[in-house]
Amino acid sequence: MGVKIDPLKCTACMACEMACGYHRDDAFALLSSCIVTYRTKEKKDYFGVLLKEEENLVIARPEGLEVKKIGEVDEKAKGDASAKPMLLREPCDLCQDREGGPLCLRFCPVDAIYLD
Ligand code: SF4
Ligand code: SF4
Repeated sequence: MGVKIDPLKCTACMACEMACGYHRDDAFALLSSCIVTYRTKEKKDYFGVLLKEEENLVIARPEGLEVKKIGEVDEKAKGDASAKPMLLREPCDLCQDREGGPLCLRFCPVDAIYLD
């Protein structure tokens, strides 16, 4: 079971990124988040979501979902919007120490995040 993202529902509100950073650091520490909003300079108004898992980097873009093994991730997929590269961040632990389950899921306003 893991966190799944529906990129076509996502509005890039960043609530999941803030929630994850808050869960990890007890502050809105975006650099601690393992789920981040992905933007690119090449296309205007283009966004998706990146999720770092233990072994994979999940790239949820409007055109589809891509799962890359850590170690096979190219520079572009790391997400140029984040100051701290995704691969240096802690992987998602499904908020295991939290009674109510994944905090990112609770805060997504459009139900773009789910468990499967
Ligand atoms: S489940 Fe928890 S650790 Fe995983 S991305 Fe969501 S908030 Fe972050
Ligand atoms: S909280 Fe939901 S809508 Fe907002 S950026 Fe995250 S996945 Fe997208």
